[in-house]
Parts: sequence; structure tokens; C-alpha cells
Amino acid sequence: MHKYILSIDQGTTSTRAILFNKKGEARYRAFRELTCLFPKEGYVELDPVQIWISVVDVINEVLITANKTMADIDSIGITNQRETTIIWDRLTGKPIYNAIVWQSRQSQEICDRFIEKKEFIHERTGLLINSYFSASKIRFILENVPGAMERAKKGELLFGTVDTWILYRLTLGKVHATDITNASRTLLFNIFTKDWDDELLALFDIPKVMLPTIKPSSYDYGPASYFSETVHIQAMAGDQHAALFGQNCFKPGDFKNTYGTGCFMLVNTGTKPVLSKKGLLTTIAWQIGDEVVYALEGSVFVGGAAVQWLRDGLKIIDSAAESEIEALKVKDSDGVYVVPSFVGLGTPYWDSDVRGALFGLTRASTKSHICRATLEAIAFQSKDVIDVMKEEANIAIDTIRVDGGATANNVLMQFQSDICRATILRPACLETTSLGVAYLAGLHSGFYNDLNEIAKLHTIEKIYKPKMAKAKVDKKCVGWQKAIMATRAFK
Ligand code: ADP
Repeated sequence: MHKYILSIDQGTTSTRAILFNKKGEARYRAFRELTCLFPKEGYVELDPVQIWISVVDVINEVLITANKTMADIDSIGITNQRETTIIWDRLTGKPIYNAIVWQSRQSQEICDRFIEKKEFIHERTGLLINSYFSASKIRFILENVPGAMERAKKGELLFGTVDTWILYRLTLGKVHATDITNASRTLLFNIFTKDWDDELLALFDIPKVMLPTIKPSSYDYGPASYFSETVHIQAMAGDQHAALFGQNCFKPGDFKNTYGTGCFMLVNTGTKPVLSKKGLLTTIAWQIGDEVVYALEGSVFVGGAAVQWLRDGLKIIDSAAESEIEALKVKDSDGVYVVPSFVGLGTPYWDSDVRGALFGLTRASTKSHICRATLEAIAFQSKDVIDVMKEEANIAIDTIRVDGGATANNVLMQFQSDICRATILRPACLETTSLGVAYLAGLHSGFYNDLNEIAKLHTIEKIYKPKMAKAKVDKKCVGWQKAIMATRAFK
């Protein structure tokens, strides 16, 4: 009988389940939207019970749609939105507060208390002191739910990121564990010892008894008893880490960029962590057996969202896809630059006070130029991050593996290839996050023998190679740098 791997991808706005066959093809899918809660300005929360119900729903739906049962499933992989924090009662399994979502700024004030310790925190965790990561979110709940701190100290409460929460529920409360990639996003994990760090726990005043056990990404986490005693959860990984794996970035220097609302870039740096001085994050890429692989991570805040702005803000296009049609009406952006720093600039500028800008307009400028310049801006911003990665990790990035909604845009992909002088590979399966965790699960269950077998399954759908003359690229890049400088001057 042909078996499938069941991937669960629990994201910020939705939960998905996909059944992958042995060839790594996504055969059946189910999807549930989630209701994001915004109880106060800057707060973003989710109902943990709704998350769990959505997981049960998508599993049932995908099996029913596929006309399969758990007997057809080889193993389960869980990938998830990272950093999002849930605390629940050890006995009843009931959450004591909503899930605080990674984007939420509600614990910013708590982070501000630790600003003087930022170097110490960076040296241990590879991260920045920022409300994105779980530590300040845990403290927020411990400080704001009456009695929570005392109960946590007595061991009555458990903390988990979303992987841990789903695992706990699927195993009927028997397993309280997280995978190492998710642990590496908490601000409590030491990337050198690869374990919870007692000094960080003391600093944030978080009782160790509430933390899950850390395990490899590819590992037998036990049976998903809620559904079946025989099907085991064989992998867990944060979404970006799973995508890196799903893109087959197995070697140091292998790099992927996900072009979604924002852009998320990760590069495999091998078995030693590289600490960044320019704001990149050091993170665990994955652990298989005893081998821990590290990655550097950078992001662009406004990626595909800049195209949404063309559509919903400027209203000069009706759909995201139309940005390409408009851009193709002109040969060149003709000196027009869009800097979509609507919420500030990230790597390597780190300037949160800047706002967006438009430069180089003439009477001949049309909406086509603005569309083209907006697509180019997504590529320029990604290049800025890639350049820092090359420098700090001392590696060549000559191939860019891409996924995410905006990779449908050929103008954007070609321009990215042109300015980075890199080959761009767009895979046939764009659901690289789910695929990555399916591979990790299959590696542990024996569905796949080794990485070579997986690498053979990886199918590239489209390749872009640099076409633009080097002199023109240089001129455009100089223009972009000027646009950035001018934008920063206007504050
Ligand atoms: P997320 O997972 O962040 O929601 P997706 O991977 O679904 O993002 O991608 C959605 C983003 O991609 C949107 O910001 C949208 O504007 C952009 N996008 C989708 N199609 C295109 C296209 N053809 N050209 C440019 N941008 C696109």
C-alpha cells in the first residue's frame, strides 16, 4: 500500500494539512482560517483552542477528501508559526491566556527593561532583545494573569510554542517537548550549549519547570494518540527552517528567500554558529540525529506587501498579478525608485523612524514605472540582506532558491537574478514549508533513506539567469543606495 506523510502547517492566519506521497508531491490539502484577535493597540493574539480545533479539522478533512484513514499515513510532521507563546495548566490542558502572536508588541515594555543586557543576550542566543521572541511574551503572561507566577514556580503551568501545544494535544498530554529550531526562537536557548540557558532564565525570571524538553527536528515524538496509537509524530520545525529544508538547502552557502508579505531569507552556515554584527539572526536550521546545522536569517518587512499597496493603497492595479503586466509595458523603471519602508528599514540599516518614499519622477513617469520600481525595490531590499550574509558568513551566494506568492512574478525574479548575479531556482512544489517537515518526518520514519534520496526528488520548475549588463546593474544599485540615503535624510 502506498503511504503518505501528513504535514501540518500551523500559521498566523491559517492552519493547513497536506498529504505528500513518496515522490514529495502534495496530493491532498485542507485549510482553515483563524480569527486573529486585536484586543488592544499593538496586541495580536490567537485563541489556542481554536488553533487546536483547526488542527483536528484539517486532519479530518484531508483524510476524508483523500478517502484515506490514519492507516494510510506513514508519519506526521508539524511546522508552525514561530515564537508565538502559549501557557496552559498542566492538569487540565486549559490555556491561562490567549496565544501571544510573534507580531504582537504587547511585551515591548518588558523588553525595554533588558536593553542594557542586549549584547549578553545576543552572544548567547544569536537573537536581538525584541518582543518578537517568546521570553518577554512568557513574562507578560506571568505578570498579567493573577497567580500565574506562583503556579508556574510550583510546576502547575506549562509553556510551549505552537509546535509544543499541538504535540501536547495530539499525544493526549503525554509529551511536553519542542524541537530545537523552535527553542532557538525563545531568547532562552543557548545556541552554543544547545540547551536552555540558566542565566537567561534567571534574567527573565522564568521558572525552568514550565519549559518543554528540547529534541531534534527529525525525531520520534510519540504516537498521535488523539487519532491513532500507531502513527507517530516524527518531525517538528519552525516554518522558515522547514522551508530551508524543503528547498534542499543542505550544504553551507545554500540559500532561500521566501517572497510573501515580507521576505524571509535563510542561509545554511554549517555546523558552527556565525554571530552577526549587522542585525542578522543566528538560528538553528535543523537537527538530524546528533548533527545540528545553523543558519543566518534576515528579513525584509515589506515585500509582497508593497504590491498590495499598489493595489489597495494607490489603487493603480486591480490584482497583484497585474503588477507584472504593468511593469512589462515599460523597458525600464527609467530612474524611478520606490522605497517601501512603510514601517522602517531593517537589515542592514535598522532605522525604524524612516517612512516610504518615491524618487526620480518626470512628466513621462507612468504607473507602469511605479509598478516596475516597486517590484525592483523588493529585489533591492533582498539584495541588501544577501550582501550582509555574504560578508558575515564569508560565503558566496550564487544560487537563490525561491518560494512564496510573489515568486509568480517574472519581472521580480529576473531582476533579482540580474542584480545579484545569481541563478534563481523556483521549485515545482511551492509549499516548501510543509514539504520540508514531511521530508524531516520521512527521514526519521524510514520513508526516506537519506538526504540523497530527497535531493533526487527536488524538481525545479523555472530557472532565471542574469541577463542585464553589469554596467547597468551597477548604475541601478548606486541609484538605490542614493534613494535609501535620501529616504533616511527625510525624517
Ligand atoms: P504570506 O504567506 O505572507 O501571506 P504569500 O506567500 O501567500 O504570503 O504571498 C502573498 C504576497 O505575494 C502578497 O503580498 C502579494 O501582494 C504578493 N503577490 C502575489 N502574487 C503576486 C504577483 N504575481 N506579483 C507580485 N506580488 C505578488
